[in-house]
Amino acid sequence: MKNPLLLLPGLALLMSAAPVTAQDADAPKKAYLDEKSAPADFAVQGEYSGSIKNDDGEFKLGVQVIAQGKNELAFVAYIGGLPGDGWQGEEPIRGKGTVSGKTGTLTSDRGRAEIADGRFTIYSNDNNRIGELSKVTRTSPTLGMKAPEGAVVLFDGSNTDKLEKGKMSEDKLLMVDVLSKDKFQDFQLHLEFRLAYMPNARGQARSNSGCYLQGRYEVQILDSFGLTGENNECGGIYQASKPDLNMCFPPLSWQTYDIEFHAAKFGADGKKTANARTTVKHNGVVIHSNREIPGGTPGGPIGKEGAEPGPIFLQDHGDPLRFRNIWVKSL
Ligand code: MG
Repeated sequence: MKNPLLLLPGLALLMSAAPVTAQDADAPKKAYLDEKSAPADFAVQGEYSGSIKNDDGEFKLGVQVIAQGKNELAFVAYIGGLPGDGWQGEEPIRGKGTVSGKTGTLTSDRGRAEIADGRFTIYSNDNNRIGELSKVTRTSPTLGMKAPEGAVVLFDGSNTDKLEKGKMSEDKLLMVDVLSKDKFQDFQLHLEFRLAYMPNARGQARSNSGCYLQGRYEVQILDSFGLTGENNECGGIYQASKPDLNMCFPPLSWQTYDIEFHAAKFGADGKKTANARTTVKHNGVVIHSNREIPGGTPGGPIGKEGAEPGPIFLQDHGDPLRFRNIWVKSL
């Protein structure tokens, strides 16, 4: 028998306006901004660390599990530990899996893994339990770093007075498409960002923004969790230099950029005599060390290189990520 309540026209109308239908949840650009509203696969995705024993001996293993929407998972297994936690660059093992409720299953030609309640159990092809990893939530050592004396606090959650086009979310976080009123030459920048959870999106469509130095040079912000770390991915200097290591944490984690920037130099005739240089730490790990930046990046408020100082700009690429605790100290 049909639910008699459905016969009430007013109620039927209310039900048709239900907030998230299955179809909405599958939309390619569907973005979640907090864990509470995220679908069940959020609990399975993330980082796992532990050790594994096989014929070669016992060794540390780190695994990144990436939600792909529609109950699909991808994984990247790093022998030696997660990037920034032991991995020495050996080619990782990549594969796929599925999620059912809050349980995940991953398979490769070497065996399989079951994920439930933060435990990641690995079985060999002959069904021996050969390892168990635990879910880890890494925190950047510079998270919450206070502005040093003499720094300009661009955003601390109280107001947007130091910003042009500054918009705050209800939870007092800064939204994309914003630039500093002050302009800077050589400086140290601290920035905290939180990527949206967009399991159905891929590549450049996944929580894309960007942090422009002097309004000219983009340090890419993107959900690159589990990717290889290219110059158009998180921590990359767009179109110029890939990061030494992909330190991107899972989406909805707070992450940090600590950037030292030295402006390009120009002669009296206006010709460039030295490229801009930058050292970038992503989540506390140096991913560019005194890296030369050969030229400006398109898409920023200035783009073209020049001798005059420029603003910090946080790009709107159509995705709703968030920022907090931003300060700049001139050097
Ligand atoms: Mg970008």
